[in-house]
Amino acid sequence: GSTLGILGGGQLGRMIAVAAGRLGLQAHVYDPAEAPPAGQLAARTTTAAWDDEAALAAFADAVDVITYEFENVPTASLDLLGARRPIRPGREALRVSQDRLTEKEFLSGLGLSVAPFAAVHDAASLAEAMARIGTPAILKTRRFGYDGKGQARIAAPGDAQAALDAVQGAPAILEGFVAFRREVSVIAARGLDGSVACFDPGENVHEDGILRTTSVPARLTATQRTDAVLLAARILNALDYVGVLGVELFVTDAGLVVNEIAPRVHNSGHWTQNGCAVDQFEQHVRAVAGWPLGDGARHADVVMENLIGDDVDRVPEIAREADTAIHLYGKDAARPGRKMGHVNRILR
Ligand code: ATP
Ligand code: MG
Ligand code: MG
Repeated sequence: GSTLGILGGGQLGRMIAVAAGRLGLQAHVYDPAEAPPAGQLAARTTTAAWDDEAALAAFADAVDVITYEFENVPTASLDLLGARRPIRPGREALRVSQDRLTEKEFLSGLGLSVAPFAAVHDAASLAEAMARIGTPAILKTRRFGYDGKGQARIAAPGDAQAALDAVQGAPAILEGFVAFRREVSVIAARGLDGSVACFDPGENVHEDGILRTTSVPARLTATQRTDAVLLAARILNALDYVGVLGVELFVTDAGLVVNEIAPRVHNSGHWTQNGCAVDQFEQHVRAVAGWPLGDGARHADVVMENLIGDDVDRVPEIAREADTAIHLYGKDAARPGRKMGHVNRILR
């Protein structure tokens, strides 16, 4: 059989590994951490640093194709891996999405709406950006942010210095605050043959910068639904993308505004595990393994709820609920803000 290499062994890597196993592939996970969540369910795990050239080469030689759960794999490691085996999604998707500034420029270059943005590297460039964009605004580090980390809100001009302190001098972008009605995301896939399939858009609620719930169907008009799918396809085609991509959108009265993209399976697509015959993880494995894309049609209304930190203590109660599927990540320490699992509640 063939072997799928997965860079990153967190919960996303774990669920990719399960899908790979179900399709008869061996999953081989690479992660710097001892005993990552995906290691429990992968056929093989390499524990080594991102800059361990010998370990990277041996990993590449042991697999047929490489994918990732995590878009911040260092460029030098990707060069080494990519010289030996195909990496899907490809390097362009990573280059664009590793840096919020590059990503915003790419999206606006495609003619898509994004929040007004400007590069910030010090107090003077922040002052200039604020003069143009105004307040409220959000200062975000260009790289490595997730779950709202590395971000500071600027409600009024007086908050500028505090925001700059919060990002600790890292290269950043200032974004104008989008007055959205709701947030939705499209989980989209593109196959090796260029075919595209999108899951039904989900409606997302965040708390403290972390995704709390995703509900399908999202409250969208027919036009918004079509726009969401078309813009996702445009992004996939522009990147010559292979695999699953998450596109986060703000719904405004003036139309859809793209917040960010993630070149991988996405937390807001977890509902597909119990709402579709082929979920986002199987779809991703199909795409990167060169299989035809599956039918991602939705057969149920679903609310996905993340179990964050102590939420996991509610699992014994949740286990008594009808029509609720529980997905746990096998992490033992429930730190505040840590994603421990999720549940999918089927509404009909
Ligand atoms: P993720 O875990 O989704 O990768 P992240 O750390 O990359 O999160 P963003 O998606 O940029 O963060 O922002 C987190 C949330 O903050 C958004 O889902 C949205 O609720 C809010 N937010 C971010 N940028 C803006 C904006 N320009 N205008 C209004 N709200 C915003
Ligand atoms: Mg993000
Ligand atoms: Mg986000």
